[in-house]
Amino acid sequence: MATTDKTTKSEKSQKGSINVTTENIFPIIKKFLYSDHEIFLRELVSNAADATIKRQTISKSGDVTAFKGDTPQVFVKLDKEAKTITISDNGIGMSAEEIDKYINQIAFSGATEFLDKYKEDDAKQAIIGHFGLGFYSSFMVSERVDIISKSAKKGSKAVTWSCDGSPDYTITPSKKKEAGTDVILHIAEDSLEFLEDERLMSILNKYCKFMPVDIIFGTRSIQEDDPSGEKDEEGNTKKVSVEIPNVVNNTAPAWMKKPSDITDEEYSSFYRELYPMNMEDPLFNIHLNVDFPFNLTGILYFPQLKKQIDLQKNKIHLYSNQVFITDNVENIVPDFLTMLHGVIDSPDIPLNVSRSYLQEDGNVKKISGYISKKVADKLTSMFKNDRTSFETQWDDLRIFVEYGILTDEKFAERSKKFYLYKDTEGVCRTHEELIEAVGETQKDKNNKVILPYTSDVNAQHSFVKDATERGFKVLNMEGQLAAHIVGKLEQTHTDIQFKRVDSEIIENLIEKDEETTSALDEKQQETLTPIVQSAFPEKGYDIKFAAMSPTSSPFIITRSEWMRRMKEQQAIGGGGGFQMFGEMPEKYDVTVNSNHPIAMQLLNEKDDVKRSATIKDAADLARLSQGILEGEELTAFIERGFKNLQA
Ligand code: ADP
Repeated sequence: MATTDKTTKSEKSQKGSINVTTENIFPIIKKFLYSDHEIFLRELVSNAADATIKRQTISKSGDVTAFKGDTPQVFVKLDKEAKTITISDNGIGMSAEEIDKYINQIAFSGATEFLDKYKEDDAKQAIIGHFGLGFYSSFMVSERVDIISKSAKKGSKAVTWSCDGSPDYTITPSKKKEAGTDVILHIAEDSLEFLEDERLMSILNKYCKFMPVDIIFGTRSIQEDDPSGEKDEEGNTKKVSVEIPNVVNNTAPAWMKKPSDITDEEYSSFYRELYPMNMEDPLFNIHLNVDFPFNLTGILYFPQLKKQIDLQKNKIHLYSNQVFITDNVENIVPDFLTMLHGVIDSPDIPLNVSRSYLQEDGNVKKISGYISKKVADKLTSMFKNDRTSFETQWDDLRIFVEYGILTDEKFAERSKKFYLYKDTEGVCRTHEELIEAVGETQKDKNNKVILPYTSDVNAQHSFVKDATERGFKVLNMEGQLAAHIVGKLEQTHTDIQFKRVDSEIIENLIEKDEETTSALDEKQQETLTPIVQSAFPEKGYDIKFAAMSPTSSPFIITRSEWMRRMKEQQAIGGGGGFQMFGEMPEKYDVTVNSNHPIAMQLLNEKDDVKRSATIKDAADLARLSQGILEGEELTAFIERGFKNLQA
């Protein structure tokens, strides 16, 4: 615990030593947080802003002098020659006693506590936004810090506190006239980079952009009417350039206002204020506002995701009482919500803890549950209130919703109200509507509703066409998450089963009880099997026979839904128990259409050369439909021009 010399106060000069028991923290402050030295400015500016707000609040009581005409203000000044940065405020100020209490003792022990915590944390970067080091963060960049302060309490005397980064400090009387505090940083040799206007401006822009009190840095020029009233040739009053204080922040950002007070245009312009580099407008937004059982305000924007998961996450900015903390909200909001943009502001998120701890924090759990619910509610109400427009936005929303369904159980449950299955004709249906529409036609012999789907309309074109012609609704399950969402939806709705259109020949896609008869008898099939097999010399092709329409293809290659899912699982490292048996072999089925004239022709053909040519073409045609005929093989097939198949 810090101790001080308590015998002398404001009138006389005094000397003291901040710390007598623990190791000297100054070298530690100086050394740590290499990449984040810039946060000193946030800490000092927010202290200054707090002090002005305190004065404004307390001045109503009468013990403290009120602002005379001017408003709460914080000035940041740079003096390159003197190598100083000064943060001045017209706030509550501190008497000698208060400096002793707040700076020598409270702030010091706060900083010590922070450093202890920081040391405990093995992953240093894990502490969120390095928040809470407070006043002593100034020693990251300074060789000496002076505080010149005059309390706003009536009859107070101004004092100067000075400390050169050793535990020793001095407090001397000062001549400061107005109430408030100047913190003067004498920048250390290794931190001269902070003596640049642009650098300071960009730090202010990052951390202080929405602080609640005017932050002034330098001046900017505006055009004003010439006070002499002189006119130009056209009779207009001449303009002159005047320098005015440059306020760097917007003290009343949109998220702090009542939703009913904000127009759509204000929401959009706030979005542009947050992301000046972002060209695309968001789709819509959600205004968050709770004060019980935790405090949270914010605006979340839905970006236009297209069909891609936006890999450039971390767009949501986290604030605490209008002070920027971080744009990495990992573990603070559910993972799928990090695809959104916007701001959340909550003083109830613990900030000087490690990220791994956050997930266990009760407030954080409640907050993330709340946000997830708000997002689901918003989507539900959009769906209910304007379904047409919801459907037009569905392609953009879908990947986000699917990510949520896969990672957040409660969201998955809520999404049942608005999750849409879109078919290849562009019709969108909820689960209930889909079952209603396809229930009877697509029910198989086990009473499961089979949902044929495509993961790529172009590549699976001929299969999609066949299925559609049969009157089936083929669902469009394109996108990075489709494979997972298919599995998830089957778990949720046990009455359905997804089958990719190319997983079976169309006759078997939805298995009914009907017996299928083959135009070829067993003997003929036996003869034909090795002949067809010769056109598929690769391993893993099983030959089967089925009586399909004579106008269907002679051979059809399919890969069973089960097999494909297993392989996909394996590819992403899942695979469950099957992993034990090692890599699974590729397996395809080749179904010979025994009603196709070519089947008979192959049986009867005596000329080996002719037969091989026909088989080769039929096999290549099947490969082409499966998208596995490529390169020279494909060129050669096109050049041969199907002529062997036109028997
Ligand atoms: P924190 O701001 O988290 O309390 P700090 O170390 O930043 O911790 O500051 C410690 C205390 O010093 C503040 O709580 C406040 O009472 C006092 N203080 C710091 N800066 C100022 C200032 N500019 N004006 C008045 N009081 C200040």
